[in-house]
Amino acid sequence: GNTDLQCQVLVLGSGPGGYTAAFRAADLGLDAIMVERYPEIGGVCLNVGCIPSKALLHAAEVIDEAERFAQFGIAFGKPKIDLEGLRKYKSGTVGKLTQGLKGLAKQRKVRVVQGVGQFASAHELAVEGPDGRQVIGFEHAIIAAGSRAVRLSGFPWDDPRVMDSTGALELADIPKRLLVVGGGIIGLEMACVYDALGSKVTVVELADTLMLGADRDLVRPLEKRIRKRYENILLKSKVAEAKAVKAGIEVRFEGEAKDLPEKDVFDRVLVAVGRSPNGQQIGAEAAGVQVTDRGFIEVDSQQRTNVEHIFAIGDIVGQPMLAHKATHEGKVAAEVIAGHNKVHFDARAIPSVAYTHPEVAWMGVTEDDAKRDGIEYTKGVFPWAASGRALALGADDGMTKLLFDADGRVIGAGIVGPNAGDLIGEAMLALEMGADMEDIGLTVHPHPTLSETVAFAAEVAHGSITDIM
Ligand code: FAD
Repeated sequence: GNTDLQCQVLVLGSGPGGYTAAFRAADLGLDAIMVERYPEIGGVCLNVGCIPSKALLHAAEVIDEAERFAQFGIAFGKPKIDLEGLRKYKSGTVGKLTQGLKGLAKQRKVRVVQGVGQFASAHELAVEGPDGRQVIGFEHAIIAAGSRAVRLSGFPWDDPRVMDSTGALELADIPKRLLVVGGGIIGLEMACVYDALGSKVTVVELADTLMLGADRDLVRPLEKRIRKRYENILLKSKVAEAKAVKAGIEVRFEGEAKDLPEKDVFDRVLVAVGRSPNGQQIGAEAAGVQVTDRGFIEVDSQQRTNVEHIFAIGDIVGQPMLAHKATHEGKVAAEVIAGHNKVHFDARAIPSVAYTHPEVAWMGVTEDDAKRDGIEYTKGVFPWAASGRALALGADDGMTKLLFDADGRVIGAGIVGPNAGDLIGEAMLALEMGADMEDIGLTVHPHPTLSETVAFAAEVAHGSITDIM
């Protein structure tokens, strides 16, 4: 064909899946090109996802902690919030990482081409970018085009007061009253940020519970805290209609929540009801790659699509839509292309974390799963009220829960409290290594740390700790 550029491995999308795959391919001696529509690489995760949200959540935590300490002898007074300064802190954090990525790409001689890519054939991608149109020929391709926020119909999306997560992260102002539509991880994280900054937050969620997928007992400490702080938590309810009026966004609610207002007007509305894969936007049909009605691309355990030399990774191949799943899949795809035929994506579990205050983290079999599917399990729960470190942190409502199979091996874990997301890493390692309750309980953990609660939960299951409180 008539191509402008040629490579062995073409990576479409520069998110955590894409850059990991491109870098791994280059490290294995392959010549890689990465195509990204935006001038910055890093995808959703670095630019408008994981990283900016965590920067803002840290700021929120500082505010929350300062407020909480007023009762323990240190009062800071009402925080003076300089939104411009906070935005700079957020973009500075993102900027360091995206600059770093550019350097890493350069070191490896991974070529980055800016523009919107569409397959032109099974061996060509047409890219429309600031420098015009180019056609890139490739031997192998890895599709890492990610996902985008679902834009619920019926909302006046042309009004800037209606936002998706990207809009919310921009921090245009601190709305007096914010409505968050969707009580999942992203909605609750952003609710946490705006609550700390001073907004009165209402959350509306269709399901009968917040953070669907996590066990009820894990979500309870979070729910208890936010029920106290937020204006309203409306479960089993939805926005039936939303329209822009002068005073704000007027919504009409429908559902079964107690005291559900029929109508209300909010200064801003964040719609966080899930993400939808970009499979229908990349001209997949020209390459013969099958895409489902919902926009997902199906792959085998080596990340291969129905087309032998085309792979797909990350959000576009399915749930859970998480950065750490994308990176691991990216490595697999690159290695298989490099000829490592025995490599498969074979994770026994993928951890989920909500970086709310308190944090909620879980992995593997949840108790709700086990009950529903009739999986036999032994449980060890260690309440943080019995942990000295948790008490010193004011986190006595935290909890560490481990689930074990009949042989005593770890099959799942759930943790709620500060740093739960970091702590779940130990449970993940235990699961992947096939550790049992004795292994974990006999491992000497540093005192006084929250990590001890993992060992204590194992000892509770084993029966070597009883009568905790
Ligand atoms: P993406 O990161 O979506 O990247 C895809 C890239 O491809 C994008 O840059 C896009 O511009 C580009 N692209 C798409 N189509 C084309 C095309 N045709 N041509 C050129 N370029 C194209 N996950 C976590 O694990 N932890 C978190 O804490 C976390 N927090 C999040 C917070 C928010 C607010 C959001 C929205 C998401 C969060 N996620 C988090 C999810 C995480 O961001 C995604 O799972 C991850 O980014 C998926 O990576 P990916 O490589 O599949 O694709």
